[in-house]
Amino acid sequence: MSVAGVAVSPDHFIGGRRVASDARFEDRSPIDEQVLAEVARGGVREVELAVEAACAAFADWAALGVAVRAEHLRRLADLVDANVDRIAAVECLDMAMLERSLRARVIPRGARNFRAYAELAESYRERVWSSNGTSNRVVRMPAGAVGVITPWNAPFMLSTWKTAPALAAGCTVVLKPPEWAPLSCSLLADLTEEAGIPPGVFNVVQGIGEEAGADLVANGRLRRVSFTGSSQTGQLVATSAARNLVPFTAELGGKGPLVVFADADFDAAAQKAALQYDDSGQNCMAGTRLLVEESAAGEFLERFHRAVDAHVLGDPRDEATTISPLIHRDHLARVEGFVDRARANGDRIVRGGRVAEIGGLWYEPTLVEPRSNDSEIVQQEVFGPVLIFQTFGTEDEAVALANSTRYGLAATVYTSSAERAERVGRSIRAGTVWVNCFLVRDLTAPFGGIGISGIGREGGDYALDFYSDLKTLQIQEDSTR
Ligand code: NAD
Repeated sequence: MSVAGVAVSPDHFIGGRRVASDARFEDRSPIDEQVLAEVARGGVREVELAVEAACAAFADWAALGVAVRAEHLRRLADLVDANVDRIAAVECLDMAMLERSLRARVIPRGARNFRAYAELAESYRERVWSSNGTSNRVVRMPAGAVGVITPWNAPFMLSTWKTAPALAAGCTVVLKPPEWAPLSCSLLADLTEEAGIPPGVFNVVQGIGEEAGADLVANGRLRRVSFTGSSQTGQLVATSAARNLVPFTAELGGKGPLVVFADADFDAAAQKAALQYDDSGQNCMAGTRLLVEESAAGEFLERFHRAVDAHVLGDPRDEATTISPLIHRDHLARVEGFVDRARANGDRIVRGGRVAEIGGLWYEPTLVEPRSNDSEIVQQEVFGPVLIFQTFGTEDEAVALANSTRYGLAATVYTSSAERAERVGRSIRAGTVWVNCFLVRDLTAPFGGIGISGIGREGGDYALDFYSDLKTLQIQEDSTR
């Protein structure tokens, strides 16, 4: 099968082979809603086959040692780099992120993920110390076969972000990609094969979340489950993993504040605020609640509206486009539902608030001034091009508003005061707080959410520890030769 001129298999990848299913599901492009592929629809049987393959491959992969595994990951990284344009073309058709962002930033990050984890795993030094007449050592043991589930808003990058530490740590992987954008993970499977990663070490089961996804989490032979998706699905995954006492991480939804103080650089803040409509707001880390100091509201809004006016809704393959369509007609209806309910609730729609005139799956960049902080549109993740505008009088009020939802994934603050940056940065409850910047990531830093935004941390050694069983090895001193 060919998508954007690239050969892509619509089947599972299990034990190094392509495996079909009797059932299939339609994968449509958000750009024109045309069917791109009839993808294999896995269930218990395919999950069982894949977990079996991953378990069978585990002992040899773990025994290879860190240095050889790192060589495999570096080869894989080189292959991702060599195939950026192909992967970007497929991903763009499949989930409609701007193709130039995919090429320049998002797909190359997949290669960086593999390289970063090759290096981190190799540079691990066991902690060694003496106490009570014994030598103590912390030993990392690869956990086993693991399940990985990813969402549609950056399927290739997020799958590599989870798979890289798992493989580097010596685990084998069964990946369930998102059903709304399943194709780039099939390309990833091809690249693992080309990189010489042994059969069974990396497996892909395609399918629907409630079927293949739920079957994967429920499989009692997995040693870890790593999930990224919505907070609602995260609860189901947590419940199911708990039944098997399987450790899991959950990277979930967000409702991040973007706080602008009167001492901030308004041009920079307004530009960044308008940028939150990128990818039609389908970014978990987006600063969707604009919290602006009262005395600066007018000046900020003027600049913000100017920046939003410059947005161009269109085909994500076109250079001029800055806002691409939403992922799916169901998701468009969900976004519409949020804004319609806000309107009915008495929240003020400051701009946008309807499906875009160009038709298709585009929704207008929308700004809502809520009637109250309790409004649904303030408290729930919309995951669309919908921002909230609220003002505050004092720094304490700003922090209180920033911390007033159950989410806590990321936050952004604009201020020119170093003391305020430090104070507010420390007071906001979020896994990441950016001050005068946004989306800057160091792969060795912890990443994750507070509250309903997640459990556990990815990034750096945190992910390698998650995919390892940590053992304390204690040997009586002077008792061995
Ligand atoms: P989703 O929860 O609907 O689906 C995510 C994945 O889970 C998909 O692969 C889906 O097939 C699978 N799934 C669905 N039901 C399942 C079940 N019962 N058991 C097991 N798996 C199941 O999320 P989505 O709509 O694909 O993605 C958008 C959400 O992801 C947003 O809430 C966004 O904030 C969040 N997200 C979070 C991060 C992060 O790092 N925190 C990153 C990207 C996206």
